[in-house]
Amino acid sequence: MSIRVRLAIWCAGISCILLAAVGLAVFTIHSQAHYGDVDRTLAAMTEHFRVEIDRQLARGAPLDRALLAEIDAAGPQLVGANLALIDPAGNAISGRALAADALGRDAAPAHDPMTFATVAEDEGRVRVHTMPLTAAGTTVGYVQSSVSLADLDRSLARFRVLLVGAMVAGVVLSGLGSLVTAARALQPVFTLTETARAIALSRAFGRRIEPSDARDELGELARTFNEMLGSLQSAHEGQRRFIDDAAHELRAPLTSIAGNLDLLERALDLPASERVAIEADIRREVDRLGRLVNDLLALARADAGQAVARESVELDRIVIDEVRQMRRLANGVALAITGVEPTVVLGDIDRLRQLVVVLIDNALRYTPAGGGVEVGLRRADGEALVSVVDTGIGIAAEELPRIFDRFYRTDPARDRDAGGSGLGLAIAGWIAEAHGGRIEVASTPGAGSRFTVALPLAVPAAGPAADPAREPGPGSVPSGDLRPAEILPAASPFPKA
Ligand code: ADP
Repeated sequence: MSIRVRLAIWCAGISCILLAAVGLAVFTIHSQAHYGDVDRTLAAMTEHFRVEIDRQLARGAPLDRALLAEIDAAGPQLVGANLALIDPAGNAISGRALAADALGRDAAPAHDPMTFATVAEDEGRVRVHTMPLTAAGTTVGYVQSSVSLADLDRSLARFRVLLVGAMVAGVVLSGLGSLVTAARALQPVFTLTETARAIALSRAFGRRIEPSDARDELGELARTFNEMLGSLQSAHEGQRRFIDDAAHELRAPLTSIAGNLDLLERALDLPASERVAIEADIRREVDRLGRLVNDLLALARADAGQAVARESVELDRIVIDEVRQMRRLANGVALAITGVEPTVVLGDIDRLRQLVVVLIDNALRYTPAGGGVEVGLRRADGEALVSVVDTGIGIAAEELPRIFDRFYRTDPARDRDAGGSGLGLAIAGWIAEAHGGRIEVASTPGAGSRFTVALPLAVPAAGPAADPAREPGPGSVPSGDLRPAEILPAASPFPKA
């Protein structure tokens, strides 16, 4: 059942209950007031005659038809009432005795005084008030006044019909009114539904809802929906760009490999040295393809929200291992290690290794021969801080916000030649984030860059005495061939964070 119909039913139900309660109260008060008036008039009249008759009887007058003539008998005509004199056995002496059953019963003095009764007659109900007449302590008869309720009953019946009609009309009107109001109020929701359906079918995430100016809930919903469309649009465009870039990146090495294989097939008499060079070229491209596919896989896992392992990892060992390994690739760049403190973080050892490799690899690639790269690890404020500082080409300030984007390269042609896929920092950024950390960069074009990775420590920094077995002492590193003093001048050219 639609919200519109449910709202209408609720409104109609509530107004039905309200109108019924009000109608019932009005009818009861109104009818009680009228019947009360009748009773008061009858009682006053009966009492008036009773007093007069009692006085006559006291004077010794007989209780007969003539008695009433002595009293002002015009009174009952004025109020449309009838008057009757009744003997103790219930027989009328004058007028018509009503409620005779009750009279018979109540004839005994013990039941005096008699009061009101309602008698059903052919012409309608009659209200009767009876009072006993006493002489010397005994009931000698009754005086009775009565009035027809037919007119009042008819009038109240009409009033009841009117009230019920008004109630039904009120319920129908409130139901219809709430149906129309709900339809108008929910119009933006229908528009929203239609737009959402159209967008789902056409994937046109660029479409937007026209939000109403009103600062109400539905306007807020439309604005939130537009925001959601905005982020869907950028996610969709980002994904499309990523696929385009990935296809483009994959095509370059494949084209190179296909061209080289063609050449090998066609030029059978190629000198051996050229053949070796071509094969080396193919090998390089295959390696590049392999790296690219691995990077794409890592990012696909990142996008799928894959959680990283949470094991205790000795970050200092990773840093020292990787610096040692990568010195072979340094190509004339002095790769040094500065103080490495024993540091344990919770995480995935392979991912953390990959993070350190990306940063050192970049530093080496973007630092010309003769320059230097310095890697350090320290603890501060509950964080492990890995710093990779180089004296390389640096990054322009306007490029800095973009270097963590997928496939972003400051100089595409040169960086591709240098073997970079443009995915390294995107992956590094994800790894840091997945470990609850972050990467900060400071760079001066032409002077060098400083990349700092901050990761939460596995346990709050407990000072050098925390793990004496692993503590190599301040400023020193476990590996003898990795001393900073060997390769770095006292006045360091490295940019400071
Ligand atoms: P790539 O694989 O091309 O190096 P990255 O994502 O690792 O891709 O880096 C993105 C871009 O950031 C690089 O193309 C390069 O222009 C710039 N960059 C990264 N590290 C450094 C650095 N240490 N010095 C200078 N530029 C760098």
